[in-house]
Amino acid sequence: MTMRITKEKTERGLLQQVKELAGVDLRVCFQCKKCSSGCPVGDWVESPPAQIMRRLHLGAGDELLESDLVWVCVSCQTCSARCPMGIDVAAVMDALRTLALEKGADSARGTVPKFNRAFLGSVRRYGRTYDMGMIASYKFRTFSFMKDTDKFPQMLKKRKIALLPSFKADRKTVKRIFKTTQRPKGGQK
Ligand code: SF4
Ligand code: SF4
Repeated sequence: MTMRITKEKTERGLLQQVKELAGVDLRVCFQCKKCSSGCPVGDWVESPPAQIMRRLHLGAGDELLESDLVWVCVSCQTCSARCPMGIDVAAVMDALRTLALEKGADSARGTVPKFNRAFLGSVRRYGRTYDMGMIASYKFRTFSFMKDTDKFPQMLKKRKIALLPSFKADRKTVKRIFKTTQRPKGGQK
């Protein structure tokens, strides 16, 4: 059977969508694997960053959004700093997270994406993270109201947790950044 691949079918493939979102040229990756060797979670995931890049090159579709690294990645930027070709691999991971949420991938239904939303919501509202607001939002999203509450007094005593949001943050600027970069529901800007 002959399979016809039309321009319409290929031009908005996952690789293209990631390129548009991350603003990086993935074609220059030559698989040196420096990104994977520096990744702090690389040894614990099925597909470390270099493999994600390779799979994107080879035309992987939305199944790539189910890769464990998409949500295990801690955005430490080590991969981007180590890449000899200057590819912002961490931005690629960000793009994959955005697409996973937009497309309703199974990987986006766990607790990590919920934490991600609580974190970003806190930064958007207060200009930087506000511990109590973020914890409340996360617990509400996960219905884990009593989990880890025994640690709260100790964290409070050691001043590891702020009861009030910071009033020093430039909330207006941060809100403007969110407004400028936010994509409309369901996809493209
Ligand atoms: S470090 Fe850069 S060039 Fe090397 S495999 Fe990773 S993305 Fe590709
Ligand atoms: S940003 Fe993510 S993928 Fe890159 S090194 Fe850090 S954890 Fe690994």
